[in-house]
Amino acid sequence: MITNFPKKPMVWISVLFSIIIVYTGCGTLVNQSSSSIRQDSPTAQVSQPQAEVKKSVVDLVPGTAYMTQAYIYESANEGPTVMVVGGIHGNEPAGSLAAIKFMEIPVLKGKMIVIPKANTLALDANTRTLPEIEDLNRAYPGGIDGTPAQRITYDIVELMKKYQVGMVLDLHEGYAFNAVDPKSVGETILPGTDDTSVLLAMDAVENINKQITEDKKKFSVLANPIAGSTAHYANTVLKVPAFTVETCGDQPLADRVHFSFEIAKFLVSSQGVIDK
Ligand SMILES: [Zn+2]
Repeated sequence: MITNFPKKPMVWISVLFSIIIVYTGCGTLVNQSSSSIRQDSPTAQVSQPQAEVKKSVVDLVPGTAYMTQAYIYESANEGPTVMVVGGIHGNEPAGSLAAIKFMEIPVLKGKMIVIPKANTLALDANTRTLPEIEDLNRAYPGGIDGTPAQRITYDIVELMKKYQVGMVLDLHEGYAFNAVDPKSVGETILPGTDDTSVLLAMDAVENINKQITEDKKKFSVLANPIAGSTAHYANTVLKVPAFTVETCGDQPLADRVHFSFEIAKFLVSSQGVIDK
């Protein structure tokens, strides 16, 4: 399916406006030649036309009970590919909902891949995972003939490779504020080991903390993503900046979605793929 984002309303408003001005007899404009009206054509009115964005949907592990979708947005403008994953853990709905919000953001350049419900059966059951699925967050790089978790992560990895991702975000939730209970990762960002990941995570934390007054609720940069996770794989094997973003389950869902979305938006927009 092809989705265009031309500014058609503006185009028609501008055309109608030109016609109205000409035919209502606004002196100097009426005296302008028809070529000047052509210069006022739709293309000339839009200073930087938004490039066409192609949208496609890919079924991961098709034909299985745990099949899920990846949504791919490809701008005609050259640029990097970013991947946003949510729903790796089914009892962490904020990451999934934040990823869904991403599907509404216009892609300005490059490509954006959104996988909002990685573990769709677990999300439906509101549980971390199901015994028959196993933990996606320990399953990377996955395997084509492996457990369901390995098959799902294998297909995610295949997408990462096919589209040569330049950045990967995985949106999760911890059960408590890390500042209160260091055993939990709530309100933290876990960046990859490379400098870019660490510096971007620090910037993202500084940015989001402007919105948070209570110290215990402030985000911090924690250690690197755990082995077997989405961000760990992308960072250590594909060598691209990658992040696990953790909100805190102690917060209302709307706040968790907000923080998850805002942090992800900050990180993705750093690549110019979406607007800030
Ligand atoms: Zn999680």
